[in-house]
Amino acid sequence: MTHQRVVIVGSGFAGFECARRLSRIVRKSGADVKITLVTPHDYMLYTPLLPDVAGGLMDPRFVAIPLINAMPEVELCIGAATDVDFDAHTVHVDMVGCDPQELAWDRLVLTPGSVTRLFDIPGLAQHARGLKTVAEGLYLREKFLRQLELADIESDAEARAARRTVVVVGASYAGTELVAQLRAMADTYAHRRGFSPDEIRFVLLDTSKRVMPEVGEKLSDKVLDVLRGRGVDVRLETSLEELSDDHVVLTDGTVVPTHTVAWVTGVTGAPMLEKLGLPMEKGRLRVNADLSVPGQLGVFAGGDAAAVPDVTKPGSITPPTAQHATRQGKTLARNVAASLGIGRAKNYKHRDLGLVVDLGPRFAVANPLGVHLSGRTAKAVTRLYHVYAVPRATNRWAIAMTYLTNLAAPRPLTMLGLVEENEANFAASEGIPTVGR
Ligand SMILES: Cc1cc2nc3c(=O)[nH]c(=O)nc-3n(C[C@H](O)[C@H](O)[C@H](O)COP(=O)(O)OP(=O)(O)OC[C@H]3O[C@@H](n4cnc5c(N)ncnc54)[C@H](O)[C@@H]3O)c2cc1C
Repeated sequence: MTHQRVVIVGSGFAGFECARRLSRIVRKSGADVKITLVTPHDYMLYTPLLPDVAGGLMDPRFVAIPLINAMPEVELCIGAATDVDFDAHTVHVDMVGCDPQELAWDRLVLTPGSVTRLFDIPGLAQHARGLKTVAEGLYLREKFLRQLELADIESDAEARAARRTVVVVGASYAGTELVAQLRAMADTYAHRRGFSPDEIRFVLLDTSKRVMPEVGEKLSDKVLDVLRGRGVDVRLETSLEELSDDHVVLTDGTVVPTHTVAWVTGVTGAPMLEKLGLPMEKGRLRVNADLSVPGQLGVFAGGDAAAVPDVTKPGSITPPTAQHATRQGKTLARNVAASLGIGRAKNYKHRDLGLVVDLGPRFAVANPLGVHLSGRTAKAVTRLYHVYAVPRATNRWAIAMTYLTNLAAPRPLTMLGLVEENEANFAASEGIPTVGR
């Protein structure tokens, strides 16, 4: 075999972009390079719209970019990489539906992303669910809709109130978007059923002093006003003490009866990284500015899995965002190609362009290039940005049509019953070891 073998682990923003770009570079150069993408799923998930999936607005297939359509010349290996032999240049893959495989590589790109960060809180792994995967997004939607339906036939007022209560932990952008989308779904449900939306209670918790500190004080204050205006009970500097199947206890001692708890408090590097024996920083793999792994010739890493030096802010690492992961994917493709003799390598450098955060009906906040926007303008910017940023025309079209439909019709309140409780727990959906938690 004379061709060079590039194995990429993970098909998120970084792995997807790296595979797509690299296959283009290779095709143009005419070099004999085989690219294999190891991934548990045959799609790339556009996570920024997962809150919309949980809130019943978006169909999950619209935010899943099919890898075969997007990059037909890249070989897919559907499974999870569990270990790497850096001397033998092989990666061990637990396959879905067949025996494990040892894949040989000449260049290895590690982009397995991140998973929800868990804490040792009694009942957390058992009773809360995250928002990192399609299974979790769909489960939250169905679990909440089921609770609303059960509440409708509940004769006991306290039990009904518990079913109509949702607790979301984490008031960063993902948790705040989730609470806004679930609130919008709850309002639609209440209007259809003819009771007051105020009867459905939302509690949003965070240990920090602000909601969404990443958008700056001014926008953060606006978000807090809008959330409280929609009846969301926002409790800052507060988290969970313990969870059971019908209530949670907050760190301030308050008991909140509920059956639906979402845990969206931040991320840490994918579990496989710890096994590799490579230097780590804050749960992420340490890499050089050109995204190569120190001391491992031919090994590269990027995205949420890697602690990439931020050359625009010396001494810091780039935050775990899709914006950085996508651009690191491009740099990975360029530098892997350069290491194979095609083109020249360069260091990763990107100045943050800001965030867009969709907060349900008629409201969003955005700070593109430092310009602070909120309300309907930000809403338009946010939706246009997502339609632009989704990396496939057919998905873009479907998302744009969903937004247009939503202007004229209420969101559908359908439970498809596709995800079981145990398929959406942290172990099954994200691969986080939770035994003993
Ligand atoms: C709800 C939500 C909303 C968000 N909104 C935004 C936003 O608006 N803007 C923004 O910039 N960022 C946002 N983010 C953050 C963004 O999603 C991440 O920064 C981005 O996904 C990181 O890309 P990645 O490629 O490093 O990892 P991921 O996208 O996490 O992809 C990693 C991939 O690797 C796979 N994988 C994991 N382990 C293995 C293994 N052992 N073997 C093989 N494959 C493996 C995973 O299944 C996954 O497909 C959001 C995140 C969430 C959860």
